[in-house]
Amino acid sequence: MYRVCSSCGADCALLKCACLAAYYCNLTCQQKHHLVHQCECTEHLLKVIVKKRTALDRLKEQSSPGVGSVELMTLEQELAREYCKVGRLKVNSLQPAIWPEAATHCQQALHLHRKVEISRGSLRGAAARAAAGKLVQKVAPYGLYDTLRDLGDIYRLMQKDSDALRVLQEALVEVRSDIAQESTPQLQEALAEILHATGSLYIDQHYGNRQIKNWTSGSATKVLLEEALSIRRTLARFGPAASELFRLLADVYRILDMHDEARNILKEALDLGF
Ligand SMILES: [Zn+2]
Ligand SMILES: [Zn+2]
Repeated sequence: MYRVCSSCGADCALLKCACLAAYYCNLTCQQKHHLVHQCECTEHLLKVIVKKRTALDRLKEQSSPGVGSVELMTLEQELAREYCKVGRLKVNSLQPAIWPEAATHCQQALHLHRKVEISRGSLRGAAARAAAGKLVQKVAPYGLYDTLRDLGDIYRLMQKDSDALRVLQEALVEVRSDIAQESTPQLQEALAEILHATGSLYIDQHYGNRQIKNWTSGSATKVLLEEALSIRRTLARFGPAASELFRLLADVYRILDMHDEARNILKEALDLGF
């Protein structure tokens, strides 16, 4: 079967990239498109991972065991992000057959993010710890919070609801403890996203009747989604997921027979233009 060439757009492409996400007329077209494609090509990213892994192993051999260094943490964090990236790309490909692989990649990312935390704790000297404080960015793209949320999404897709709930709850605990130390709009936003994802999982369980026979978590769901919305109101930043958040909360109010609240929330969404 002929496909559209990702490079020149001709519809006679037969050459398939090893990641299976791009087709080309020939090698010339593939090479021309390489710079664009490499950031979304799982094959390319896996090669990057192998390189970074090797560099990390070499660095570990050279350093004394159990002692962290900023260099070590930098590599661990970079590698974690690459794993998370591959995991997300594999989920987005919408092929259920490779969801378990996506889960494995995100688990690797999580494992490495945890190692960064351990390395940070074992750093010697105030200067090194201060440098590490700036380096570790849990809210950055593909950082710890993205990884936990992606892992939650994958488990949900795989209908492993209790695993999904476990990672989301872990994320909630973690982000709340970070906020307790120093609250930033980015952390608040991360909290809103995790609350939203957890509430949405609870509602899925109610409608899908998947693992919980009777929906006992109605008021818990309400509390989670109300907190998510109140954060968004405070930040005055609703983001692309806002309309879903309003809809979910209205659903919960309806399930709980709180019809006035359901009407009000839908009116607020309308007024805000969602
Ligand atoms: Zn072409
Ligand atoms: Zn590719």
